[in-house]
Amino acid sequence: MTDSKTVLKVISAVSTKIKEKEDYLTELDKPIGDSDHGINMARGFTAVDAKLPLLEDKDIGTILKTVGMTLVSTVGGASGPLYGTAFMRAGMAVGSKTEISTDDFLNLMDAAAAGVKQRGHAEPEDATMLDAIIPALDAMKKAAEAGKTPKEMLTLGTAAAKKGAAHTAGLVAKKGRASYLGERGIGHIDPGAASFALMVEAATETIV
Ligand code: ADP
Ligand code: MG
Ligand code: MG
Repeated sequence: MTDSKTVLKVISAVSTKIKEKEDYLTELDKPIGDSDHGINMARGFTAVDAKLPLLEDKDIGTILKTVGMTLVSTVGGASGPLYGTAFMRAGMAVGSKTEISTDDFLNLMDAAAAGVKQRGHAEPEDATMLDAIIPALDAMKKAAEAGKTPKEMLTLGTAAAKKGAAHTAGLVAKKGRASYLGERGIGHIDPGAASFALMVEAATETIV
């Protein structure tokens, strides 16, 4: 499906997208959080950008683990350890490969989702990033089973992540700062679900 060089391109595209949407993500965090999700994520990916030149000839596991460690140490906020764990677990799952198949990709996404779940103890419908991650993963697995191309699979994953993020507006948050609001949080999209959808979208736009 893809190789180390393309993975670096995807990370760079994710970073660009997150920085482009920094204000949007921070706005989403305003009514139900502490108005910093975009700021946190942009800070993390700016630090990731600085690491990319050092990763030019590294394997995919090393690339993903480095991204994860960088996010953990720079993002701050709940999303740092969660996305950090996701990338680190993905990197551990893929190991020293320099090329991966669609199956490898789905495996690393599974490991990432399991890491977020384990770290944050959230369940589906708790109005967190998991409500974008899980539907995206399910849609991509179905697409792969149906024999879709990687680009088609990611396109379907993006649509599912966006739908999942939109769906969080109807949920009462059970985890994170938004949970302090209870019913008053209804009507607002979860910022972390929105940032995940942007990441899959950036990957989709990069993969040919
Ligand atoms: P903070 O809430 O510490 O300011 P951010 O604003 O950067 O951190 O990130 C908030 C996002 O983190 C939420 O929108 C949600 O998607 C995610 N999140 C928070 N707690 C959890 C959790 N326990 N499990 C999964 N995701 C969570
Ligand atoms: Mg916040
Ligand atoms: Mg915060």
